[in-house]
Amino acid sequence: MITLFENETHKCVMFNDLGSGSMVQANQHVIVDGKEAMVLDPGGHKIYSLLFPQISSLIPMDGLKYVFFSHQDPDIIAAANGWLMVSEARAFLPELWMRFIPHFGVDRLVMERIQPVPDEGTTVELGSAGLKIIPAHFLHSPGNFQVYDPVSKILFTGDLGASLGNEYAYVEDFDAHIQYMEGFHTRYMPSQKALKLWADMVKSLDIDIIAPQHGAVFSGKELVDRFIGWIAGLECGLDRMEAVFKIPG
Ligand code: FE
Repeated sequence: MITLFENETHKCVMFNDLGSGSMVQANQHVIVDGKEAMVLDPGGHKIYSLLFPQISSLIPMDGLKYVFFSHQDPDIIAAANGWLMVSEARAFLPELWMRFIPHFGVDRLVMERIQPVPDEGTTVELGSAGLKIIPAHFLHSPGNFQVYDPVSKILFTGDLGASLGNEYAYVEDFDAHIQYMEGFHTRYMPSQKALKLWADMVKSLDIDIIAPQHGAVFSGKELVDRFIGWIAGLECGLDRMEAVFKIPG
């Protein structure tokens, strides 16, 4: 567990070591303001059984106000039913995916606590903080959001900025870090246009930390700016697919 930010009333905590086996490494982020908490992209069933007691040690479970699901991937949503059954939390999910999650065994009883987020995003009150749920569509999922916390100035970017295979939790040398991001972003991110739209949008935010759902975080304006610049110029997805679209011989 790593504390990314803390003041008297507000705290952001990252769990980065709960996974095991062949599971892709994932970070689970928790934002606490006063007596209320939001858990972001809480992972599948195996993570759930480990993360749940950790969160109860941070705050009483009746303080878990929100669960945020950035998109529909199994490393994010597979334990949705568990979270909603054991808490009174409300969940946020891209509107685009609302009809799909009953397939993950989400009970009708808890479906009404899942709030669809429209394409434009929304603002959510957590304690006295106004968290921004901002559009991040096609990064990589067609219905996808990120969370900006104006108190900690952390942008939680989900799959964007993900790194795989590195051992460290904080990026120190951006150039040396690219190798751990490149494969994932060139294949999973569908189009450079989405990257550019995102980069233009987040220029208006005051960001101290970019905290993805996999791998290391970018702390400090210099690394944040390096990442935004790098990602805006990346050829990815469809831009690189022409050679693949052939009938296998
Ligand atoms: Fe994903």
